[in-house]
Amino acid sequence: MNRKLYFLILLIFTALSLKAQETQFTHADTLRGSITPERAWWDVMRYDISVTPDFDKKYTSGFNNITYKVVEANHPDVMQIDLQQPLVIDSIIQDKKQSLSFSREGDVYFVKTEPQNINSEHEVKIYFSGKPHEAIRAPWDGGWTFTKDEKGRPWMTVTCQGLGASIWYPNKDHQSDEPDRGASLAMRVPKELMAVANGRMLDKTEHKDGTISYKWGVENPISNYTIIPYIGHYKNFSEVYTGIKGDLDLDYWVLDYNLEKAKDYMPPEVHNLLDAFEYWFGPYPFYEDGYKLVETEHTGMEHQSNVSYGNWYAGGYRGRDGSGTGLGLTWDFIIIHESGHEWFGNNITTNDLADMYIHESFTNYSETLFLDYVYGEEAANDYNYGIRSGIQNKAPVIPAYGVNAQGSGDMYPKGGNMLHSIRHSMDDDKLFKNILTGLNMTFHNKTVDGSEIQEYISDKAGYDYSKVFEQYLTTTKIPKLQLYIDAPNSKMFYKYTNVVDGFNLPLVLKGSEEKIKIIPSAEWQSVDIQHKNQYLFTPWRIEHMYYIDVELLKNKD
Ligand SMILES: [Zn+2]
Repeated sequence: MNRKLYFLILLIFTALSLKAQETQFTHADTLRGSITPERAWWDVMRYDISVTPDFDKKYTSGFNNITYKVVEANHPDVMQIDLQQPLVIDSIIQDKKQSLSFSREGDVYFVKTEPQNINSEHEVKIYFSGKPHEAIRAPWDGGWTFTKDEKGRPWMTVTCQGLGASIWYPNKDHQSDEPDRGASLAMRVPKELMAVANGRMLDKTEHKDGTISYKWGVENPISNYTIIPYIGHYKNFSEVYTGIKGDLDLDYWVLDYNLEKAKDYMPPEVHNLLDAFEYWFGPYPFYEDGYKLVETEHTGMEHQSNVSYGNWYAGGYRGRDGSGTGLGLTWDFIIIHESGHEWFGNNITTNDLADMYIHESFTNYSETLFLDYVYGEEAANDYNYGIRSGIQNKAPVIPAYGVNAQGSGDMYPKGGNMLHSIRHSMDDDKLFKNILTGLNMTFHNKTVDGSEIQEYISDKAGYDYSKVFEQYLTTTKIPKLQLYIDAPNSKMFYKYTNVVDGFNLPLVLKGSEEKIKIIPSAEWQSVDIQHKNQYLFTPWRIEHMYYIDVELLKNKD
């Protein structure tokens, strides 16, 4: 082809693909999803939020008092604050005295501050009001939910994962910056209603107008999207669980008419989950703030030390079992899954939403590990194999970084299957458990990049799993293991196809007594077999332990 023509075509293609990217992600996505200069210079230390929701008018007003530390010497004297429309910021006060001016670009406010010294701490109190965005299909979309309980009385809450906490209060809406010294949430409500939020109740104030303010707070760092109010006709009961770090306060807040049912139903489920997850993942990460389940109208969400529950007091996921094995019906999916996020999601939080698989893959796999703890390995393998039917492989698990993009739904079952494969490839559950516990200790209350978690696993396992992560997280290809039996010579030949360069998932094939370990590659290799261990290569046996397709060939050419 003519060289000039070639470059012209190349130029057109580049322009077109840039154009496609532009239409996919906007400047607003970058402001929302990246660390802009107006975000980088200040580190959130605390959020103290106050909100007064008006149920009839579906209107909210309040403030967020942000305590922050200056972390850059030469910084812009502009601060980025996020608050999504139709809510608006009314005024901003610096350090309890000075009123600050600001301008708005869509859902982002640029606040003019004085130059501030590095390492100095300051506060901005941001007043907001308006009719907030309402959730249509909570928890899958987000916003306020103004609904009614079975008796027709007001019931309110918020969901905002992915969409962001700025849907209901002003903050630095980026997962990488959690308030280091915790947060509080005060809610002013009519006196017949009860308001519950994260952590412990810190204060209750009765006002002359017949309203009551309830203030709750956590000591631990917290993701802004998991700070959540619940307001309704709640009643509670509590107990103390003896965990591996000592006494853990358990608190249950449910609608008054469900109190007796909840007392019977919830504690055994919660004890089971704490037994299993403290075994696999180490201590519950927030003993200081306690563990809490709060009833909601939507299915549930992982709100930190404030887990929401709407699973109708029965096993499965509102009566369904995603594994198709029946095993999923014997325990409460929402209590187990959403509480699993206390370790993966709330304790270990990713910097970028694109790495959400760290939250969901591990928590999806926590279901299999829960079954393993309660029913044993065979049941766990069956469950994990069963949920594979939910994998679509239409888009990779990891999307674009820096634009608040969320990966495909495969981050749940495919991520869980990837971890299942890695675990079996280690063939050492003590090591695998130490890695899970080690992750929760090493990255306790930290925000991380997905790559840090991947490197930690390879490092502690003493094996480089980077190509395994690459295969399952960045492509939609299912690895295929091809097998060919050379009977006269008692050899089994094997190799991988449909894999990324260097894909090296080891396979430990186990039977009742026999065990064979192979590390297939894209080239044919062979292993000696005997009559009595040939069954280890049965496709279903391999596929139950590893997320790969197995193909038996008649010959290898
Ligand atoms: Zn989840």
